Amino acid sequence: MKLYKTKKSNIHRHGLSAAQDIKKGTKIIQYKGKKITNKEADENKKYGYNITYLFTLNKKYLIDGDFKYNTARLINHSCNPNCEVVDNYGSEIWISAMRDIKKNEELTYDYGFSFDSYYKDHVCKCGSSNCVGYIVREGSRWRIKKLIKQANIVE
Ligand SMILES: [Zn+2]
Repeated sequence: MKLYKTKKSNIHRHGLSAAQDIKKGTKIIQYKGKKITNKEADENKKYGYNITYLFTLNKKYLIDGDFKYNTARLINHSCNPNCEVVDNYGSEIWISAMRDIKKNEELTYDYGFSFDSYYKDHVCKCGSSNCVGYIVREGSRWRIKKLIKQANIVE
């Protein structure tokens, strides 16, 4: 039985939610896509290619998940996620429960975007109490907070 189902999301147009209670550590859905090399990914970036669905698989390869058959791409980002991305010995990528999840809860994970000059292109509407307003990986969110603080001082 599938652990997930598609749903209308409160965060974005579509999302996935838990079809049943899910225990912490459970692999929920595989992140499927096309294997591409780091070099190919760099080339694609140069042409303004959408990098939202790229995941590092190992030193040499990434997974490009920008395909309809990759249902996992519907999962939204959250600043307070209930899932995480795990790689299976560098050969597969899975979305796994990082805590117990209740039936019908929306599935989310940290997209892990780095903080760069494009952060403003990725507005976050996750609604978590710790939301910084932009999709940026947890380890870099202090940079956003700092910017907001500085902006407030100027005003
Ligand atoms: Zn957020």
